[in-house]
Amino acid sequence: MRVRPRLWIVPVLTVLVAVAAALPAFSRPGSGAADRAGAVAPAKAGDARRPVARDVVLAVHGGAGTALRRETTDPRKEKAYRDGLADALKAGRRVLRDGGDSVAAVEAAVRVLEDNELFNAGRGAVFTEDAGHELDASIMRGADLAAGAVAGVRSVRNPVSAARLVMEKTRHVMLAGEGADDFAARNGLPTVTQDYYWTQRRWDELVKAKHPGKTPQATKRHQADEEITGTVGAVAVDRDRDLAAATSTGGMTNKMTGRVGDSPVVGAGTYAKNGTVAASATGHGEVFIRGAATATIAHLIEFGGRDVASAAYEVVVGRLPRLGGTGGVIALDHEGALAAPHSSEGMVYGYLTEDGEIVTRLFPDESSPAG
Ligand code: ASP
Repeated sequence: MRVRPRLWIVPVLTVLVAVAAALPAFSRPGSGAADRAGAVAPAKAGDARRPVARDVVLAVHGGAGTALRRETTDPRKEKAYRDGLADALKAGRRVLRDGGDSVAAVEAAVRVLEDNELFNAGRGAVFTEDAGHELDASIMRGADLAAGAVAGVRSVRNPVSAARLVMEKTRHVMLAGEGADDFAARNGLPTVTQDYYWTQRRWDELVKAKHPGKTPQATKRHQADEEITGTVGAVAVDRDRDLAAATSTGGMTNKMTGRVGDSPVVGAGTYAKNGTVAASATGHGEVFIRGAATATIAHLIEFGGRDVASAAYEVVVGRLPRLGGTGGVIALDHEGALAAPHSSEGMVYGYLTEDGEIVTRLFPDESSPAG
């Protein structure tokens, strides 16, 4: 007897195979494509899904990376970080006390950090692979979504001020390279030569990046904290409840000449939209760009009904690491709730409360959530 081929088995098997292939995506959190694109990492007890402080009017960060350790951090270094963050907050506090708006406050705070060689922005910026300095910065106003940015500038002393000028004096959002340097100079911003940005510490980091095996003596001295990359940012809310955010950086050590990170990209490194969030990011820029990091935080709040802390946590801890990068954000809502989640081991930041108190946080054990 001739056996009739059972052709119906082909589509049935196809469906079975497809279902079996899809199963892990549903059964194992974090493993499937759907999950990589968007689900939330499990909550830890007492965790970063809650605000780290309330009644905040201004916050600044000084980069994310390997945590500074209480036990190994030289007290002078600790003081320098705390003073650097506090000086920036004081500059912003002066602006807000004088009736200035949130845009002026974040600009003032970031300028102070750019002038401080401890941080990777302005003076103290990291080196490109060609031993040069190319700086990125952006600023955004939450009231009307106005934004300005500069990328790859080489002679502006304070890139954040150039970004603000782009926002206020041009019909564009971002200027890059020579055009941006010329624009800033024409508008009266102080210019510098490349050696202004130079520091021994960043030079040693470049040497180390190029010759990973050979660590010069000088580099060893900085090893305890060199992984705090030092990008800077600020977020603020003023008495009109208007939000603003700004970010400034030298980028990543040994980056290709011409490389632009997330810091000047609106929606990636910086975002501010009234009623949602003012956010400034630090970390692996490519991943923050691909994950549209700060805009996604705003969208989760606006369209997903999330609060600032859970939205920021979901993006920074839940989503971005799956794209292959770590970092952190400071995220402030119009009611003064501040979130500071990071997937990197550490992030240095500080904040100013409504009643004028300044708090700085360097070590991981200082980052307990506020009630
Ligand atoms: N996000 C910055 C960049 O990619 C670097 C950093 O924050 O450390 O340029």
